[in-house]
Amino acid sequence: MSQPSDAATVGVNPEFWVKAVRSYWQGGGYRLTEPRQRMLDSMVAYAAPFSAEQLYADMQTVEVVAPGRATVYRTIEQLNGAGWLARIHTQSGEGYVPSFPGHLHHLVCTRCGKVVAFEGCALEGLVERLASQTDFMIEGHLLQLYGRCGECQRV
Ligand SMILES: [Zn+2]
Ligand SMILES: [Zn+2]
Repeated sequence: MSQPSDAATVGVNPEFWVKAVRSYWQGGGYRLTEPRQRMLDSMVAYAAPFSAEQLYADMQTVEVVAPGRATVYRTIEQLNGAGWLARIHTQSGEGYVPSFPGHLHHLVCTRCGKVVAFEGCALEGLVERLASQTDFMIEGHLLQLYGRCGECQRV
């Protein structure tokens, strides 16, 4: 039995994230069109989870070469599936934040929407116990913690 490792926060550096997604697209043979590249820049600029509709609307107002609604939705779905965007449950529904492929979970501030990713959720013991108690073949889990970030506790 492996010892559960400590939880560690994972920061998303905007420049690094944009570069990483670009090379993921290039490696997968996807075309790096201007609207798609602009979408990445817009995604990392949000301070809180964004919805597909919000990203689409925001890009119509500021971009000369704005992507169509279908492109925005498809791109978000693709990046979420590959782990480059994480789906976050918010009070108004759900939204997305830039993330990295791998086993990550998120802390979400219910006041300002700030999201912090972490790894090392250490649920293995619980999953093993539940699997043997219930005869379920457990394939995955969802975990999101919410509360107030440091800044929002002081206001
Ligand atoms: Zn906050
Ligand atoms: Zn986990």
